[in-house]
Amino acid sequence: MRVIAIDGPAASGKSSTAQAVARRLGWAHLDSGALYRAITLAVLDNLGNNEEGAKGKGGGWGPQRIIALTEDLPVRLVLAGAVFRPEVAGVDVAEAIRSERVTRRVSEIAAIPEVRHWVNVRQREAALDYPQGVVVEGRDIGTVVFPDAPLKVFLTASPEERARRRLAQRGGAGGAGLSDRTDPDELRRETEALAARDHADSNRAVAPLRAAPDAILLDTTDLPLEEQVQRVVALAQKRFSG
Ligand code: C5P
Repeated sequence: MRVIAIDGPAASGKSSTAQAVARRLGWAHLDSGALYRAITLAVLDNLGNNEEGAKGKGGGWGPQRIIALTEDLPVRLVLAGAVFRPEVAGVDVAEAIRSERVTRRVSEIAAIPEVRHWVNVRQREAALDYPQGVVVEGRDIGTVVFPDAPLKVFLTASPEERARRRLAQRGGAGGAGLSDRTDPDELRRETEALAARDHADSNRAVAPLRAAPDAILLDTTDLPLEEQVQRVVALAQKRFSG
């Protein structure tokens, strides 16, 4: 099986690492979080916010309605070059799924077993579309989706560093890693939001965020991106040679 599983909490460097590793190896890149986000966007747009019912099973929307919606629209991952891009009803939603309203609700949707099953089937199908190899990133890739992946990497970073990266990505006050210019309130709010999402992802009943026992742990707090990428590429070259 030519799959590299990259798991870890939000903003641990998964996406940048997975994209760069895939490019260097000539493999495809699949971001499983993008599929959970695309379903969340579709649900919010078509089934409403459901804030009151949110604590109920299926986030109050009902698992069957959610699955029917994802099938009908449909929500899909479409291979464009060597990247799987999320689509809703034929429209590329790569940008729309990064909105705050999606980020706030995605963990609720991702905690629904029927949704996870649907997403996992799509991911395994996608990997078959790219036999040269796929770098798959998420929270449960090494533990549940591809437990037999020959290479599993679990990325971590301190909560503050992850919050800083998130703000930098957004072009916020913490941009460009200039910690002395970071607005402390913004940084605190972002750290809290990430901690809440990590808590929800790590404590759900189904496929919680966890390193597989055979995953290689990489703390990226003080590690430049280029070095993260080189390490994973070197591991891949060893595991997949021959
Ligand atoms: O990686 P990203 O932050 O975009 O993921 C969004 C959300 O999707 C996560 O917070 C998590 O709830 C869910 N997710 C998941 N399992 C994965 C990938 C993402 O539960 N494999």
